[in-house]
Amino acid sequence: MRRVAVLSVHTSPLEQPGTGDAGGMNVYIVQTATSMARRGIEVEIFTRATSSELPPVAELAPGVKVRHVVAGPFEGLGKEELPAQLCAFTAGVLRAEARHEPGYYDVVHSHYWLSGQVGWLARERWAVPLVHTAHTLAKVKNLALAAADTPEPRMRVIGEEQVVAEADRLVANTDVEAGELVDLYAADPAKVLVVPPGVDLERFTPGDPRPARAVLGLPADAVVLAFVGRIQPLKAPDVLLRAAAEMLARDPGLRSRLVVLVVGGPSGTGLKTPEELVRLAAGLGISDVVRFLPPQGGEALARVYRAADVVAVPSHNESFGLVALEAQACGTPVVAAAVGGLPVAVRDGVSGALVDGHEPGAWARVLAEVALLRREGLAANAVGHARRFSWDRTTDSLLAVYAQAGEVFREEVFA
Ligand code: UDP
Repeated sequence: MRRVAVLSVHTSPLEQPGTGDAGGMNVYIVQTATSMARRGIEVEIFTRATSSELPPVAELAPGVKVRHVVAGPFEGLGKEELPAQLCAFTAGVLRAEARHEPGYYDVVHSHYWLSGQVGWLARERWAVPLVHTAHTLAKVKNLALAAADTPEPRMRVIGEEQVVAEADRLVANTDVEAGELVDLYAADPAKVLVVPPGVDLERFTPGDPRPARAVLGLPADAVVLAFVGRIQPLKAPDVLLRAAAEMLARDPGLRSRLVVLVVGGPSGTGLKTPEELVRLAAGLGISDVVRFLPPQGGEALARVYRAADVVAVPSHNESFGLVALEAQACGTPVVAAAVGGLPVAVRDGVSGALVDGHEPGAWARVLAEVALLRREGLAANAVGHARRFSWDRTTDSLLAVYAQAGEVFREEVFA
């Protein structure tokens, strides 16, 4: 493996995750690309140019280039408008490759269905295998819609079905996702390989919560419940607020100590802006305990995890849930919805707790139990659980998938 073309049409690896369309997929691409580059493999990531100021090529890290492809107007184009720009984007990708000698890339790895459509053509044109990671699937999302959410369009379902049929190998985060690809999308089981994602264990380390709380202006004795992620109905930050209100109704004495920290920016449709959560907090009578922070990067995010007694991941669906792993790596137990990949990311009763459904009363009970009674024991196990995951391990597995995809591709071509 000398060179990998990575396709990330709708979101750039250079963006700060935690708002808009930038989330776990961006982190996944950055971490695996830099890990590949450290092994001497060149990685070129193609993404749509969203500003006229962006250079055609930027260096993300030694050995990792980001190619900005012009496809449609730079700004003001929503994700739902991108399918109409795929032809322009693909033309830009093919043009960039055509400047090199034939066989420049060894494999093309597409992320999310929009990129899968581009990868499909690149595979044909370059005669290299296509490896695809869906990250999320429309049929799965539509089965678990939040009340405020809009269903994913049929266009996406059809597009995903095409990519599933055309890709040489499909990478799933968990066995659950692999099953969904087979059961809901009729994927050939032999084509689906499970590769768990990782966590940056150098950045997300356990630490004393007191200095973290001091920086964030939180009292040392506060009971801190945190939500970290894009503010969108699917992530259900509203469930945490409703559960916090329930906790206070049951235990009014907690009011002087409880802090609900909501970290992240708006994304998607429906309950999408922090303003809506601000209104919800006011409606629930808990404005005094809820604090909002914009998306955090670097050490600041690790500080948020360390400052929290519990990180809540109440999502209606989550193909994995990197936030859950990051919090645990910082020694903070996670209370998560028992959906998608979260039962893999969190070990129920060991490194945190899983909750069935989204009923605020049930969430209040489990959050109170973990934050007030079981925090220490779970925290110790949380670090050990998170350490079972690493981006280098993810990268090892991805490289094995690329090699396998290459073999089957050659067998097919020479058959
Ligand atoms: N994130 C961040 N800053 C924030 C909020 C989130 O960097 O303020 C990152 C977080 O560290 C995680 C990613 O965004 O790696 C979210 O990934 P996850 O799998 O939890 O959810 P997704 O965004 O993929 O739905």
